[in-house]
Amino acid sequence: MLDFELTDDMIALRDMARRFAADEIGPHARKWDQTGEISSDAISKMAKLGFLGTLVPSDLDGAELGYLGNAIVIEEVARHCGGTALMLAAHNGLCLGHILHAASEEQKRQFIPPLARGEMLGAWCLTEPGSGSDAAALKTRAVLKGDEWVLNGAKMFITNGHTAGVFVVLARTSDESKSRGISAFIVERNRPGLSTGPKEDKMGMRASDTVPVTLDEVRVPKANLCGQLNNGFIDTLKVLERGRIGIGALSVGLARGALEESLSYAKQREQFGKPLTGHQTLQFMMADMAMEIDAARLLVRKAAWLQDRGEGTEVESATAKLFASEMATRACLNGIQICGGYGYMKELPIERLMRDAKLCEIGEGSSQVQRMIIARSLLQLDKG
Ligand SMILES: Cc1cc2nc3c(=O)[nH]c(=O)nc-3n(C[C@H](O)[C@H](O)[C@H](O)COP(=O)(O)OP(=O)(O)OC[C@H]3O[C@@H](n4cnc5c(N)ncnc54)[C@H](O)[C@@H]3O)c2cc1C
Repeated sequence: MLDFELTDDMIALRDMARRFAADEIGPHARKWDQTGEISSDAISKMAKLGFLGTLVPSDLDGAELGYLGNAIVIEEVARHCGGTALMLAAHNGLCLGHILHAASEEQKRQFIPPLARGEMLGAWCLTEPGSGSDAAALKTRAVLKGDEWVLNGAKMFITNGHTAGVFVVLARTSDESKSRGISAFIVERNRPGLSTGPKEDKMGMRASDTVPVTLDEVRVPKANLCGQLNNGFIDTLKVLERGRIGIGALSVGLARGALEESLSYAKQREQFGKPLTGHQTLQFMMADMAMEIDAARLLVRKAAWLQDRGEGTEVESATAKLFASEMATRACLNGIQICGGYGYMKELPIERLMRDAKLCEIGEGSSQVQRMIIARSLLQLDKG
């Protein structure tokens, strides 16, 4: 059976998220882009709606929306503000995603409810100054001393790091294997030795904070090991496989923003005696944008639907993220073109959406990394 219909619950979720994003995010997005901060009032409102616990089961205080529901929420939020959607994607998909996937039942009961209720944000620390795409080359080290793990190292580009209450940190625990010598640790913000640097001055996604994180002799109880010893990178691949569906949805939301904003502008702007929408060249640009948005959303929803059925989606997630993110940049650039000089100005939101969109081709694995995943599967190459 092939069924493209959303359930009544998912339609209600989409409509609610759409109204909320239009009323509570859109009007502030430009300011948040300028100040580099999402208002705490908006975060509280999103928490009340379950947006901070989209993937978490209800018995752990989550909204239990599944990957499809998560994708729907992220698309609607990203339609107005990529940075706010990235904050949600990192919190839900990466930090909570890792804990949900790998933590013990006891750890889940301890750490998940406050995150899912939005009482604090979560961050996920994989990238380092010297390791990005080659993430398994990370150098942060965890050594067991008595009943405690002692962590030392530096993390880079950590979303939500400025405010997060909980960090999932990937660290080397064995030198015997590159990828099978890494473990994950849950590190609370108040652990002595954990510090964060100043917010990065970014091109886009400016509402979301991105900071370096330093771990200097940070001690956590033995019980804060998240998942099996030396299995942290294998868990990381699963977390990213799922997280990338969120980045795909974020890209679809940004592209939709570019289309809707440029369409509304083009209807009221007249040149050569008729509205811009009367010029076929621009009509065709908008038709291409609509076609690509639809295709990207279908790829995102297919990957989300498969995850909700408990299936693996390494290739489907990579395909969705790759197509959607590159499509979003194209759509935003075309949206600016349709609006001409006004599209280049900050009064219209499309230039911000374009700056936000570029990140989707880089974060959670660049476009090149997604092509490597797809090609590896196609050619049945060893993961190496
Ligand atoms: C705004 C923002 C938020 C982020 N949030 C987080 C976060 O919350 N947590 C976290 O852990 N990380 C985060 N990151 C890091 C992000 O995941 C990395 O930036 C990304 O994986 C790319 O790594 P890199 O920047 O080190 O680039 P590099 O790995 O140095 O790559 C540079 C270029 O080389 C290409 N390249 C690399 N290897 C190959 C190859 N084998 N073949 C072909 N091309 C290749 C890449 O595609 C890229 O184009 C964030 C980054 C940004 C910018």
